[in-house]
Amino acid sequence: MAEFSPMMQQYLKTKEEYKDCILFYRLGDFYEMFFDDAILVSKELDLTLTGKDCGQEERAPMCGIPFHAAETYIDKLVANGHKVAIGEQVEDPKKAKGLVKREVIRVVTPGTNIDSNNLDETKNHYTMSIFYLGEKLGVSFVDYSTGEYFVTELNSKAALIDEINKFVPSEIILNEYFLMSGIDINPVCEKLGIAVSTLDNWYFDDDIVKRYLYEHFHVSDLAGLGLMDLTVGINAAGSLLVYLKTTQKTELSHITNLHTYTNNKYMLIDSSSRRNLELVETMREKQKKGSLLWVLDKTKTAMGARSLRLLIEQPLINKEEILKRQDVIEELNNNAIDREELREYLNSVYDLERIMTKISCKSANPRDLIAFKNSLEMLPYIKRIISNFKSDLFKEYYEDLDDLSDLFTLIDKAIIDDPPIAMRDGGLIKDGYSSDVDELKNAKINGKDMLAAIEEREREATGIKNLRIKYNKVFGYYLEVTNSFKELVPKDWVRKQTLTNAERYTTDELKKLEDMILGAEDKLYSLEYDLFVEVRETISKEVIRIQKTARAIAMIDVFTSLSLVSQNNNYVRPKINEKGIIDIKEGRHPVVEKMISSDMFICNDTYLDNNSNRVAIITGPNMAGKSTYMRQTALICLLAQTGSFVPASSANICLVDRIFTRVGASDDLASGQSTFMVEMTEVANILRNATKNSLIILDEIGRGTSTFDGLSIAWAVVEHIANTKILGAKTLFATHYHELTELEGSLSGVKNLCIAVKEKGDDIVFLRKIVKGGADKSYGIQVAKLAGVPESVLDRAKELVDELSNADIQMKAKDIAQYSKKSQKINDEYKNVNDLDVRQMTLFDALPDDDILAHLRELDISNMTPIDALNELYKLQGKLKNRW
Ligand code: ATP
Repeated sequence: MAEFSPMMQQYLKTKEEYKDCILFYRLGDFYEMFFDDAILVSKELDLTLTGKDCGQEERAPMCGIPFHAAETYIDKLVANGHKVAIGEQVEDPKKAKGLVKREVIRVVTPGTNIDSNNLDETKNHYTMSIFYLGEKLGVSFVDYSTGEYFVTELNSKAALIDEINKFVPSEIILNEYFLMSGIDINPVCEKLGIAVSTLDNWYFDDDIVKRYLYEHFHVSDLAGLGLMDLTVGINAAGSLLVYLKTTQKTELSHITNLHTYTNNKYMLIDSSSRRNLELVETMREKQKKGSLLWVLDKTKTAMGARSLRLLIEQPLINKEEILKRQDVIEELNNNAIDREELREYLNSVYDLERIMTKISCKSANPRDLIAFKNSLEMLPYIKRIISNFKSDLFKEYYEDLDDLSDLFTLIDKAIIDDPPIAMRDGGLIKDGYSSDVDELKNAKINGKDMLAAIEEREREATGIKNLRIKYNKVFGYYLEVTNSFKELVPKDWVRKQTLTNAERYTTDELKKLEDMILGAEDKLYSLEYDLFVEVRETISKEVIRIQKTARAIAMIDVFTSLSLVSQNNNYVRPKINEKGIIDIKEGRHPVVEKMISSDMFICNDTYLDNNSNRVAIITGPNMAGKSTYMRQTALICLLAQTGSFVPASSANICLVDRIFTRVGASDDLASGQSTFMVEMTEVANILRNATKNSLIILDEIGRGTSTFDGLSIAWAVVEHIANTKILGAKTLFATHYHELTELEGSLSGVKNLCIAVKEKGDDIVFLRKIVKGGADKSYGIQVAKLAGVPESVLDRAKELVDELSNADIQMKAKDIAQYSKKSQKINDEYKNVNDLDVRQMTLFDALPDDDILAHLRELDISNMTPIDALNELYKLQGKLKNRW
């Protein structure tokens, strides 16, 4: 076989090192891709697949893109989950002897594509590392665009899935052993569009990760990083540094700190509850509009928007920390004029964190520095305002907020106010900053004046009226004469180029001047660039001061936003109690009240405690507002624990460790689960993981199966939750099984609530008011009428309701309640879930279909024909059907 051409050999050698990437190979003004990369890219980007001679008989499949348009193409490939290695020419092709040297200068990955036009600045873009070893999971996150960097250790699959759902990283890297954990993160990653790759073990190697961590943070042991108590977390955190350094090939000087966190510092909200409560996006459309974040987010800066999102995703469970946040909001509410002034200044603050990252990674352009300067200009004003504030957090922010006036002055003196994006074409440095620059600028300007003088003089001397001195990159400066004046050209002019209608000439004098101008220009541009880089370097050394300031600004923005929202929407400061009471007066759903016209929202109270009001069974017609009421309670608790004020006239909230919600029915076809299976999986998760300090919202359980199975499951679940020896969590349980209202009085801690409606003939009016007691009807037919179901269907449904309501389902429920009362004493003695399962079975064994069983027992099967047997079976089934 013939050898590959030298260029192709160079390509293949590079590709060998970047097997998991698409290699963009710079050839002149193009990036070219070959072989499998070319086939894949041509499909994904809809490019023409051609071929290139490569020294072999067959041409190598090839496609290419112009280098100046690369960003858009890279964005698309990276968004599709690929990594793109940029193989650049690293020596001047003009000066190269033989093959131009090429190297991969950066690998763009989904988590590090910070120059993307599609980067949503209101969200963090994390790369997450998961290291699995011996049943333990080390988990670390880094946002390459801001420098935020965290690590933790987890011990269960559920906790891992929750972390993925909470942070929604752009990219996950895994160690090879993770595959042996039996944890399948693919469904959640597919759903959230997260790119996942398994890396070689050396990325996670003990010695290597420690060396990277020590060198990066300039420490000599783990204690210096506060990581003494971690094991697998160290591998996860270290692997991110290894990964970023090998792909980004920069110092990562903007990553200045590694924070350890434990998820017991925050309220736990599992992934389906996060979705159900629509914290940062709506369940169906995945839009911010309609979510809690949408109502709360009045931030002025991208940093503030990102921090607010995190605040909502991570409610606190420490009372002191919550009170501190409340103090800040209260102080801002009491100083609304200062708050508005702060917001005005914040409005002009750019994304300091991301600009800082660009500065550190040497990709910031002159305009970024001006945006940075304009932001710094606001800092003294912001600092002055908060200097008057008394709350603890404001004092912290005041300390952290550096007005960075030295950097402001530096940029202000050095960089022109409206610079171009291009860095190597001059026009960057202000007059007076450097005498060398000023001199070269003068030489350039003088030269241009001299050109104008020559043009004028020669026009007069020769009589060529339209004589012009022009410039282009190939020929430099020249005198252009149209054909009609060609005869007048002096003999000593030297012809440079002939066009159809004109000739171009040069002279010795023009040549000299050109050398002077271009020499000055070259020198000037490169000096300006050097000075710009110097300024950028000086700023990058101040990364710690800048990041601290940026975080203080972000939090000031968050709290001014929360304060504004709380005042505009009449929120109150909730009290926090340790008595296990949730007492909300005139509570409102923060989002629904914004979606319907003002003043239309009907407020409702909530009262739950650890005693007789642990579980509320909520009944009422469809559309009455049950879900809204339950979610509003969950959201008010959650808001209170983020430190925010809440939509109510008063609220006294105990801290809950977890919020669980099971809302509505939905198929999860992607993960191969039916509606009922999804429902039961969620219920199982709640029953296994809730504690007595949790808040559980159950909206319709047991609806995805037959009525009696459903009712039985719902009933058993309430018993399980209400029993303080087993769980005893505070729970709101909406149901259309009115039979469950029988539990009030028979099961301690259970109370009935219902949503009032007014009947007007055949119609109903929704009052949306929650009252004590249970509803006895669902009004489903009335709601169906409102929805426009045809009259004939409604009439038939009414007939059937009458017939079916004679069935004994109501009676049976009453019997069960009676039975429950009697067995209450016995129940209390059961201490664990397994015991309860046994009890549930005996509960329904109490109502056997004795006659059917007896009939079955008596059948003489061995003397029956198959047809007879089938007939008997049919009869028995018929009996059962009528009964249930
Ligand atoms: P279903 O049993 O059919 O699920 P539901 O009882 O859970 O119904 P919701 O979904 O909570 O009813 O409410 C239906 C609609 O009623 C809401 O979308 C909202 O527009 C309106 N609504 C609910 N609660 C209130 C309220 N307190 N004040 C004003 N409007 C409300």
